[in-house]
Amino acid sequence: MDTEACVITPPARALLPVAGTPQKYPVRRIYCVGRNYVAHVREMGGDETRDPPIFFQKPADSIVPDGTTIPYPPMTSNYHYELELVVALKKGGRDIPVADALDHIYGYGIGLDMTRRDLQMDLGKSGLPWEAGKAFDHSCPCGPIHPVEQVGHVLEGPIRLTVDGETKQDSDLRLMIWKVPEIIANLSKYFTLQPGDIILTGTPAGVGPVGPGNELVGSIDKLGTLTVRIGN
Ligand code: MN
Repeated sequence: MDTEACVITPPARALLPVAGTPQKYPVRRIYCVGRNYVAHVREMGGDETRDPPIFFQKPADSIVPDGTTIPYPPMTSNYHYELELVVALKKGGRDIPVADALDHIYGYGIGLDMTRRDLQMDLGKSGLPWEAGKAFDHSCPCGPIHPVEQVGHVLEGPIRLTVDGETKQDSDLRLMIWKVPEIIANLSKYFTLQPGDIILTGTPAGVGPVGPGNELVGSIDKLGTLTVRIGN
């Protein structure tokens, strides 16, 4: 970018660490999948039909790294965690076939789709965009990306979240309604995917509120842990 020609300092690009190397993974877009584990669909009051996946985005600069203390966000009194498997793409495309989808993945990580649940529900009930409930500052804590060449494809295994040491979410990646290759194939019908796009693949049951002083630790087999604390 020709920074000299810009009237303000160009905003920094979000970068994620890559496990096992000093190199970084540059993030272009954050796509998220809604309602992708049956038990979570039920706890949110939905039924378990295999409706087409729901997609939304968060801004790339909502990423915060592992180990951060994030401020309690404004305009909410029901601030929730949603622990999710993160898929990081190395190759893009449109109308990607399910059978080719895994070839587009650079690696996997652990992410949190932090949510202002009260705003999300109120906006949703009114038929309004739920963006203010999902796409806000610091709403996407995300750990390092683990390359496929190191960990293989992470499509099954435990996904767990504790809050202050107490288990709140405890499921298995196999229980996704839409599997990772299907998510990529579906998403690429709506958007031209690009290298640098990451996808949060939905949360299992057990979502709930957190507040100042809470420590959240997410873990997924082969991907280590992601720890964040909630500040004031
Ligand atoms: Mn989510």
